[in-house]
Amino acid sequence: MSRLLLVTDLDNTLVGDDGALQRFNGWFKQHRQTYGSKLVYATGRSLKSYQRLTTQIALLEADILIASVGSEIYYPGYKLDEAWSSLSSLDWNRAGIVAITQQFPQLILQSESEQRPFKLSFVLHKEDAFILPELQAQLIIQGIEAELIYSNDHDLDIMRRKVNKGSALTYICRAPRFAAKQIVVCGDSGNDIALFAVNKLGIIVGNARTELLQWHQDNLEDDRYLAQANYAGGIIEGLKHFGIMHE
Ligand SMILES: [Mg+2]
Repeated sequence: MSRLLLVTDLDNTLVGDDGALQRFNGWFKQHRQTYGSKLVYATGRSLKSYQRLTTQIALLEADILIASVGSEIYYPGYKLDEAWSSLSSLDWNRAGIVAITQQFPQLILQSESEQRPFKLSFVLHKEDAFILPELQAQLIIQGIEAELIYSNDHDLDIMRRKVNKGSALTYICRAPRFAAKQIVVCGDSGNDIALFAVNKLGIIVGNARTELLQWHQDNLEDDRYLAQANYAGGIIEGLKHFGIMHE
């Protein structure tokens, strides 16, 4: 048993089953105290939306918050990592992207609080998702390098190329304080793929969405565990599978 860097998505991964979340919290609190383990939340939510969630649900305080699908990183006290923000904003052509997205009536802007300096977020319904290749093509024609991240058959986030939860995780791990075997990532949907792509040890919760399951099938990895149980129950199941949690 050793210290752990646990990186988890919130909605429909850690959050979704209050009883299991409580069990997870109790275990992690103890683990953190004993081994100096660290907890990282990697969420699509903006800081504001994350703060709203913390008033509704008992979440442990995270050591690091990766917010807005990786475009922002915060430390305790909600201190923004300015260096990451300037990296993730390099060559960011917001006006160019807005102009192109306006050609697609299927794209509906999400609420103002989810629009970030370096992220644009839209609702895109499943039956309209066929526009994605055309949207990507239009961006390339205009010389705009952007990352399109589609999750839950509903949310489309557009960010600078290579900005995602995975690149944010790689950034916070650049000082190698944790060995690869000590880092576990957990998720349920499309915007978590980038986490699994940069880290071998992973837990996909039982309620995962098809876009993540499909990616998992196409990129099988022995150290990635597909849980039966849903939400935090799936995380617990995976931690037991890896021999990290015993009880
Ligand atoms: Mg999720």
